[in-house]
Amino acid sequence: MPVLARAGRRNPVTCLPNSVEASCSGRRLRGATRATYREVAVIPNLTSGDATGMAGTAACGLKRRALGRTGLVVSRMCFGTLTMGPLQAKLSLKEGASLIRAAMDAGVNFIDTAELYGTYEYIREALSGRGGIRSRDRDSVVIASKSYDYAYDGMRQAVERALRAMGIDYIDIFLLHEQESALTLKGHHEALRYLARAREAGKVRAIGVSTHHVACVRAAAAMPEIDVIHPLLNRSGIGIADGTASDMLEAVREAHRAGKGIYSMKALGGGALLDDVEGSLGWVLAQPCVDSIAVGIKTLDELRMDLAIFEGRRPDDALRERTRQNKALIIEPWCTGCGTCVARCTHGALRIAPETGRAAVDTARCVLCGYCQAACPEFCMKVV
Ligand code: SF4
Ligand code: SF4
Repeated sequence: MPVLARAGRRNPVTCLPNSVEASCSGRRLRGATRATYREVAVIPNLTSGDATGMAGTAACGLKRRALGRTGLVVSRMCFGTLTMGPLQAKLSLKEGASLIRAAMDAGVNFIDTAELYGTYEYIREALSGRGGIRSRDRDSVVIASKSYDYAYDGMRQAVERALRAMGIDYIDIFLLHEQESALTLKGHHEALRYLARAREAGKVRAIGVSTHHVACVRAAAAMPEIDVIHPLLNRSGIGIADGTASDMLEAVREAHRAGKGIYSMKALGGGALLDDVEGSLGWVLAQPCVDSIAVGIKTLDELRMDLAIFEGRRPDDALRERTRQNKALIIEPWCTGCGTCVARCTHGALRIAPETGRAAVDTARCVLCGYCQAACPEFCMKVV
């Protein structure tokens, strides 16, 4: 089993230029007490990336940032695993693991998952050598996961499950999944109490919340036990439950000023902004209060395209054309109209249409997260 990062340990992927590394113990910046926008460039090692199809990626460097006051240093690009997993692209274990490895080889050191996504196995496989988990690989990556559990024991079990499934003995960030407000955070008091205990014990390095709500960002910013916020943020405000893009941006700025690490999600509105990937990602990248941006990736071309944008290179036309696509939520005709998905969608994007008796989607509200798919007992929903 891997060991916890120790002071003075140099890490092959997170090693930083001397001036920064002088204040850095492995992945953690010791004594980090205030938010910083300082960025460092990491030149990717593409040696093994070549073997997985990443040959030709320019080595101009993916930037890294301190994640608030957590002491973690993360690449500005965070690899979102939802899209590759069973809720969406359903990649094979080998394909998914190989994609994560290719991203790591290109300098991405931050991976986002969740209990709901069903992608722990991909991460385990990506971190595994033939002889089991190699601690060198574990220590070189920052892993974030989430659970909906609200009870002390329930959250303990969720963390234990994550550790077991990924074959690791600590997790860098554990988040309360999809929080909405001060009230829902209060309702998760016991889960937070467990996470604080786990942080003390070194099983969890930082505690966070993921949210689509401005109100939650504001509430979490004021809570000392929360280190990291994972907010929905895109230039059109698609998917923000209680405000505009400006409202969310202002709340995120305040949270960052308060020392919270910020890694955002849905820069492309869950697929709705795919017609201008560069402009949409560029808008979030230009926000100094966002330390890292989670992007869902399911193909090598998408990885190449995102790397180019994050590194400030212009993706070539052929690559841009290959990655141009439209995602959609499909509801199969055997839907029974049970309504489970309607209750599950926090965006109010689903209803049971009286004329058909089946679920129908409001595409203006749907952010293509695929969460309803996990709730459907008839397996008749999919994001494609
Ligand atoms: S309809 Fe489904 S995919 Fe769309 S926002 Fe709601 S839960 Fe997500
Ligand atoms: S949960 Fe599935 S079966 Fe039930 S209404 Fe939604 S799509 Fe139809």
